[in-house]
Amino acid sequence: MDLSHGSEYEAFRTEVQQFLHEHKDQAPRGENMRSRKVLDWQRLLIDNGYTARTIPREYGGFGADPDILKGRIIAEEFANARVSQGLGGQGISMLVPTLLELGTEEQKQQFIKPTIEGEMVWCQGYSEPGAGSDLASLRTSATLDGDEWVVNGQKIWTSTAHIADWIFCLVRTEPDAPKHRGISFLLFRMDTPGIEIRPLVDMTLAANFNETFFTDVHVPKHQIVGERGQGWQVANAILGHERDSLGDPNASLTRLNALTELMKHETMGGQRLIDNPVYRDRLMKIQGRVMAMRFNDMRVLSARLNNKNATLARMITKLQGTELRHDLEGLAIDIMGEVGLAYQDNPYLRDGGSWQSQYMYFLGLIIGGGTSQIQKNIISERGLEMPREPKVEKQG
Ligand SMILES: Cc1cc2nc3c(=O)[nH]c(=O)nc-3n(C[C@H](O)[C@H](O)[C@H](O)COP(=O)(O)OP(=O)(O)OC[C@H]3O[C@@H](n4cnc5c(N)ncnc54)[C@H](O)[C@@H]3O)c2cc1C
Repeated sequence: MDLSHGSEYEAFRTEVQQFLHEHKDQAPRGENMRSRKVLDWQRLLIDNGYTARTIPREYGGFGADPDILKGRIIAEEFANARVSQGLGGQGISMLVPTLLELGTEEQKQQFIKPTIEGEMVWCQGYSEPGAGSDLASLRTSATLDGDEWVVNGQKIWTSTAHIADWIFCLVRTEPDAPKHRGISFLLFRMDTPGIEIRPLVDMTLAANFNETFFTDVHVPKHQIVGERGQGWQVANAILGHERDSLGDPNASLTRLNALTELMKHETMGGQRLIDNPVYRDRLMKIQGRVMAMRFNDMRVLSARLNNKNATLARMITKLQGTELRHDLEGLAIDIMGEVGLAYQDNPYLRDGGSWQSQYMYFLGLIIGGGTSQIQKNIISERGLEMPREPKVEKQG
């Protein structure tokens, strides 16, 4: 099977490889997302069209015509070179595409450029103590008072709330409407009076997410995306982008390459783990799953190129991708033996402890953005058109 994309694209691939050859030393490696090095790298990538590639120039992007194959080549080459393809996060991967689709011109002008440049960091205020998988049951309220919304309630698991400049937040504005039609989508600053953030320590021992409380938080009326009461449609547009970004097959390929290298160096009883048939068999199984993810990604790609529906193929990305990464990182922990159990500042750590932290992080991503069980429900009901599960409405 010939999977090359033709001469124009192979020339483009060479161009990307050349860029990486010349600039890879400038790429950040684990620095803070606010550091100068990260922000400079982001700008360099935008200027060369390797991130924010199709975002129009008037909003700070590179302004290229959409070309799915070029996008794919960039992702592949950056993965092969093990170089950061720029910033991600909820603002860039979820809010920006949604604003491009549903935002007003003023919102696009105000938010997209600083967000893609990494200067404006966002958090996502969806989940509440009583509304996770059943998100439409959310209760945080916003009532209109003159030219302002007044927000009251509580969110939970709000990743990066403690460092975010802004939040995109789901609130109930029409308490008497059916639950999916009573929600609106607001944008507001995280330093607005009345917001309290309490950190939640997760099993990586970092406090990456938070409880976020709102008491009479005043938000200008125009900071709403979509119409009042139509926040559910906006939220679903965002969840599609979030799920796409959580199962990236190229990131899995980068980690697979790193794992293969690790297995060439780790030994057991004097034998390299890569030469041990049991561990090599486990590596092959993971490699097979990474390849399956990449070919599924190609299926999505060719469906898009041919204007065909890729919904079902897209639906499995989050489910398969996050579970695959959890297993991949877990294999690395196994092959390191007792060193695999080391953590934090242990001097014997390999690769700065990234295998251990990613293993735990991806357990979180199996839950975040919609759990695996919910993904399976979506695939069976909407993808395979199996009977829908009975809806049990909460009382009260
Ligand atoms: C790392 C991480 C980051 C997150 N970041 C954010 C964020 O930034 N912003 C935000 O708003 N939220 C965030 N979340 C929250 C996340 O979206 C929710 O945890 C998730 O939607 C599940 O909701 P829940 O925790 O309330 O679990 P529940 O909905 O209470 O589910 C509990 C269990 O029941 C299962 N279950 C529930 N309903 C069904 C069903 N109908 N069929 C089968 N099984 C079912 C679930 O799969 C799960 O195993 C994050 C979560 C994690 C882990």
